[in-house]
Amino acid sequence: MCALCGAPLRPPTVATRTGGRVHLGCAERAARIAWRQRRLAALVHALIIVSVVGLLTLRGADLALLAIVSLAWLTLHSRLHRRVWHYVGRDLRRWLLGRLT
Ligand SMILES: [Zn+2]
Repeated sequence: MCALCGAPLRPPTVATRTGGRVHLGCAERAARIAWRQRRLAALVHALIIVSVVGLLTLRGADLALLAIVSLAWLTLHSRLHRRVWHYVGRDLRRWLLGRLT
């Protein structure tokens, strides 16, 4: 039985980390959904950072403190969403190189 959809297994299948097996199509679908959720989480987190920092700037927050908090928050963001930004950077490089050549 496929660990994702529960249907009987038929090739092609792939092994899971927990020792089970799943249909290749089910694994690809689950990976696409997980990737979409990761990108959305990174985007929402970035929007929250920009919104909060922008709002605090407009309300006249201490700029030195704001800079420290922003830097710390952006560092946390880049660590939490490292994989997303890795692929965004790769896609941007490919896009730019494609335009230059
Ligand atoms: Zn399946």
